[in-house]
Amino acid sequence: MKADLVKKRTRCRLCGCKSLTLVLPMKPSPIGDAFITFEEKDKIQSLIPLDLYQCFECGHAQNLDVVNPEELFRGYLFTTASSAGLVKHFQNFAKEVIDKLAVLQNSLVVEIGSNDGTLLRFFKDLGMKVLGVDPAREIARHANSAGTPTLPEFFSSTVANHVFKEYGAAQLIVANNVYAHSDELADITNGIASLLDNDGVFVFEVSYLLDIVDHFVFDTIYHEHLSYHSIGPLVRFFHKHQLELIDVQKVSTKGGSMRCFAQRLSGTRKKSAIVDQMVYEEERRGLHRPEIFQHYAMQIEQRKKTLEVFLTEVLDQGKRIAGYGASTTVTTLIYQFELEKKLIYLIDDNSKKQGMFSPGCHLEVKPSSVLYSDRPDIVIILAWQYAGLIMQKHIRFIEESGTFVLPLPELKIFK
Ligand SMILES: [Zn+2]
Repeated sequence: MKADLVKKRTRCRLCGCKSLTLVLPMKPSPIGDAFITFEEKDKIQSLIPLDLYQCFECGHAQNLDVVNPEELFRGYLFTTASSAGLVKHFQNFAKEVIDKLAVLQNSLVVEIGSNDGTLLRFFKDLGMKVLGVDPAREIARHANSAGTPTLPEFFSSTVANHVFKEYGAAQLIVANNVYAHSDELADITNGIASLLDNDGVFVFEVSYLLDIVDHFVFDTIYHEHLSYHSIGPLVRFFHKHQLELIDVQKVSTKGGSMRCFAQRLSGTRKKSAIVDQMVYEEERRGLHRPEIFQHYAMQIEQRKKTLEVFLTEVLDQGKRIAGYGASTTVTTLIYQFELEKKLIYLIDDNSKKQGMFSPGCHLEVKPSSVLYSDRPDIVIILAWQYAGLIMQKHIRFIEESGTFVLPLPELKIFK
């Protein structure tokens, strides 16, 4: 492993406390999105710890093994525009946020982790001034030349100062997912608090910890994703940084996410009752105590065992098994369920992934036409959240005596 690839954090990312408990042991896995080309296939990709820890003091759930962000995000290639679902999601996001907060025309909207500028373009169409900040150099360059001003940087308090001097205070600061992906949350949040206008609002979307538990989406645990947010710890964290969490909306992306709204402590917007309701519910469920994760780990293990029993039986019969899906969550699932050696290849509809090899175990990614040309006997739908769409599209595979296997939330076999 490269010497500076991973560093181990020793303090809670939110409150700085040193008392951190390992609550969900995960198998070490490669960086989930590090698909490689045929030429790179002999390269050994490091397996990096992925364990989930919880802070004893504030209850925040987090990964402590931090992959160097320069390695993860500078060369980032995924663009928002390549996902039709995300484009639609962001179009609604811009409209809903502007309507809800009654943001005036010509207000400054700053997006942290603005990628190719897809979301900012929707804000611009709604009459806003926009500025993006994103460390992926190539993507930022493209966004700039397509007319969305974008600073090719990691957002920080220093960058916030620079933006404030150059553009003035922001009426709206947006950060989606990046708020779960950054190791430097304290500095970022100081930057947000200093850049935000007096009546400005900070809006961000992240996966919701209680949904990760309830909906079994432990495959959304991967190295880019460092924080698994819940409301209780966030309320205290924001307060420390002169911000107040004023509203939360549940959204269905990534198996269960939340859209959070925060203002300066001196802000005049009214706090919605949902914030305290969610804090109460989290306490009632024991979300900030290790026991809930012990139970979760047991449930994951049971599902892994059930799948293993089935796969051992069909492998003994000489059946060939492929996996459907080639994404970060799929990498987590392959490693947690130890499927590396059981699959012959992966299938994915994204043409950019086809012909590439999966991180670590180097399974080739093939187009879905192999369902009919090569005819694997069994296909495990690793992108299980999209199982409905996948099976609908490939009903013919089942009709022609193929078998689809859904590994989660419960093992289901379709033949
Ligand atoms: Zn903490």
